[in-house]
Order: sequence, then structure tokens, then C-alpha cells
Amino acid sequence: MIVMKFGGTSVQDANAMRNVLSIAQEYSGHKILIVSSACSGITSELLSIASDSVYLNDEDRIHRIQEIIKRHIDICNELGLEQGTVKQIEEIGSHLLSYCEGIALLGECTDRSQDAIASCGELFSTIILTGLLGSHLNLQWFDARTSMKTHDLHPGSQVNMEQTSLLSNQLLKPLFEQCDIVVTQGFIGSDDDNRTTTLGRGGSDYSAAIFGAVLEAEEIIIWTDVSGIASADPRVIPHARYLECMSFDEARMLSFFGAKVLHPETILPALQKDIPVHVRNTFKASDRGTTITRMGDETAYGMRSVIVRKPVSFVQVRATQVSNEHSMSELMKELEQLSGLKPMISVMIDASIGLIYDVSVSKIEEYVKHLEEDNNAEIGEYALISAIGPNFRNTNSKEAVKKFHEIIYGNDESPIMFSGIQKNTISALVDSVHAENILKEIHAQCT
Ligand code: ADP
Ligand code: ASP
Ligand code: MG
Repeated sequence: MIVMKFGGTSVQDANAMRNVLSIAQEYSGHKILIVSSACSGITSELLSIASDSVYLNDEDRIHRIQEIIKRHIDICNELGLEQGTVKQIEEIGSHLLSYCEGIALLGECTDRSQDAIASCGELFSTIILTGLLGSHLNLQWFDARTSMKTHDLHPGSQVNMEQTSLLSNQLLKPLFEQCDIVVTQGFIGSDDDNRTTTLGRGGSDYSAAIFGAVLEAEEIIIWTDVSGIASADPRVIPHARYLECMSFDEARMLSFFGAKVLHPETILPALQKDIPVHVRNTFKASDRGTTITRMGDETAYGMRSVIVRKPVSFVQVRATQVSNEHSMSELMKELEQLSGLKPMISVMIDASIGLIYDVSVSKIEEYVKHLEEDNNAEIGEYALISAIGPNFRNTNSKEAVKKFHEIIYGNDESPIMFSGIQKNTISALVDSVHAENILKEIHAQCT
């Protein structure tokens, strides 16, 4: 079986959906699990309507929801789909109207309501895909919530792998005895009480990897709007080169340090079951794309891809009244409880900790101030520049590490270096104004 995930732009309109159909047709003879995102922009708009419903008047709230329903019905009509499909869209639409009315009446938008409302995006897109593909291919629609089980931790719930594996094998796998393709939703799941949950923004990649792992797929294909993983974000550096092959470790670090092309959790389930992940372009299906495997490209060395994440906040706390490691970790926990934010990176040295958060200073400074009574805290906003490579500890990457340092110091006289921490990454925090230049210079050194 092959798991294919289609991202938001890959199902954004009727034309994109037709590409999905022709890709599915090209794979005839295979069993395919299609995992789809919501049409692009829909999840963000749904989440915004959910929170705005607290104060919007009835007319404005209903109008915004009707616009969302209309966008999906227009796609159905453009594709010439049957009225049955339009009716299903309207049914989901009427749930959406009720959920938002509930928020308006109560004057409160809970995490649970947000999840229920956000889930409608993937329900809409998979209903349309089923209508389109179903008139050409033998397939079934499957509600991912019946087998993607999560612990009750809204938002961005953690997946209960044991339950998900059990239920996917009991309920989803047998469907392939009757048909070649099953269409399901990325991003959404349900908790023990069968209430809708979500896996966090961009979580459809993760859904695909989980389904791939629990169903022991031969491969996972992430169909997106670029032709694979490139030496930099092709939207920022248009001449970035696509990498033919990379290792799970490199891909993991690349997404962890901020390349949007893969959700950071995606790689782990694939790695655990050693399932190759391909990243390919829905709009240029003949492009080779990038293949991610355990070994990656064994001839590769040096820096292969560069990522800029900005803004990030760097919080440095020097405890004045406490000096042991235990107290430092308590301080970190306190900051997490206050802000609800988890640091991307934390470094603890003696009675001092450095924490990097992928948010602007304005989102965290008020919580840091709470710590200041007993401690000495500093906070600053930076850009985090990271280069990814197969092994920066290897002697053939020595030159690349040297070059990275030279470029960083050549542009910023007081960067904060995190070099040498990871086998596959070298990173530095720099003043945001230098980020673009550094990105270009490092990119020129990528092999
Ligand atoms: P999808 O909706 O298909 O999940 P995303 O927008 O989440 O797509 O991810 C694809 C985007 O990731 C690309 O359009 C590209 O701008 C961005 N991206 C960032 N870094 C890279 C990189 N190194 N290689 C390829 N794409 C990248
Ligand atoms: N639709 C969800 C989002 O926009 C999940 C995804 O696209 O991966 O975050
Ligand atoms: Mg994505």
C-alpha cells in the first residue's frame, strides 16, 4: 500500500483536484490511502471565524460561514459533481453554523470548539475528492476520527499510537479488500470519548506518516506545491536546488528548524518502520522530487540546505537565588506554565539557561517579567539561521563548518552560536536585519 498526502494547495480548487485524480489514475494497480488537507486557507479562516464568533453579530458570522460553504460548492459545480456531494457539503456546513452559533450564545470559544470547527475543512475537501475520484475509480471515504486516536490534550493533541494502530488495522485496512483507494482526512482525530481533536497546524503530513506506519505502507508520498526538499525555501531563493535524496535525520532537523515543507513530527513514525518518504509536486508530477530514507545520500557532505526562522525570542535567565540544575528546570517549567509556550531549544549552563522560542518577543515578554523578581532575565528578538547536512562532525564537513562561522561573523559581530550541538545542524541566532544576506551567502555554499 502507498500512502499519499495532498496538502492545501494540492486541493485548493477544481484544477488542483483534477491533478489529484490524474495522479491517482497513474498509480492504478496499487492500493492507495489518500490523506488530504483542507483546501488552502480554509483552516486559518475556520479558526478565525471560531474565535471571532464570540463577538461577531449573527449576520456577519453567518455570512463568513456561508462564504466557506460556497467556496466548496463552487468547486463541486466546476467539477460537475453529483448533487449528493453538494448535499454532504451542506450538511457539514450546517454543523459549522451550529458550532459557531454555540460559541456566539455562550460567548466563549474553547479549544474543543476550535478543533470541531477546524475539522470541517478536511471533511469538506475529502468529500469533494471522493465525489471526483469516485466517478472514475473504485474507492471509499473514511472518517479518520474513527481510527486516529489522540490523548485529550487540546490543541495539537498527542497521538495514541497503540489505539490508532489497533483501530486502523481493524477498521481502515479491511476497506482495501473491497476497493483500491480510500480517501481520508489529515490533521483530525478523536479522543477516548470520540470528541474531535486535531494534530496541530500542518498536521496532515503527520497523519500520513502515522497511517503509513501503522498500516506498514511501502512508501509515503507527500504531494505538495514544490518539487521536493530544496537547498532553501524556493519561495525565498527561487534558484534553490532540489535534493534528490536525504536522510531521515536531515529531514527531521530541517523541519524542526523551521522548513515548512514537512511537519516536524512527520519523520519519526516513518523512521521507526523504515518507510521511505517522497516529497513531490502535485502540479509537476513528472518531477522526481526528494526521497527521504534512513541512509540518505551517502556521498553528500557539508551544508545541503539552509533555513531561516524569524522572529524567534531568546530568553536568558540567570538565577540569583538558586544555583542548582533542579531549580533551573523548575524555572523553565514555571515559564512554560505561565506562557503555555514550549521552547524550541533550551541550553542549561550552571545557574543560567538559554531558551529559544519560535514567537516574537511581544508574545512572551510579559511572562518573563514574572520571573524577574528573583532572577535576572534578558530577552531579545533574533533570526535563527540553521544549516542542515549529513554529518557536521565528519572531517569532510570541516570546511563547511568553518565557512558557516565566517559568514555569520562576517555579517553580525555578536551572534549567539549554537554550533556543534547537533550532528546534522549548525545554528546561530543573529540580528534579523542580517538574516537575508546570511541566508544568501550560506546558500551559495550549499553542496
Ligand atoms: P502543503 O500545503 O502541501 O502542506 P506547505 O505550505 O505546508 O505545503 O509546505 C510547502 C512549502 O514549504 C513550499 O511552498 C515552500 O515554500 C516551503 N519550504 C520551506 N523550506 C523549504 C525547503 N527547504 N524545500 C522546499 N520547500 C520549502
Ligand atoms: N489543514 C491543516 C492546516 O492548515 C493541516 C494541514 O494542512 O496539514 O494546518
Ligand atoms: Mg504542510
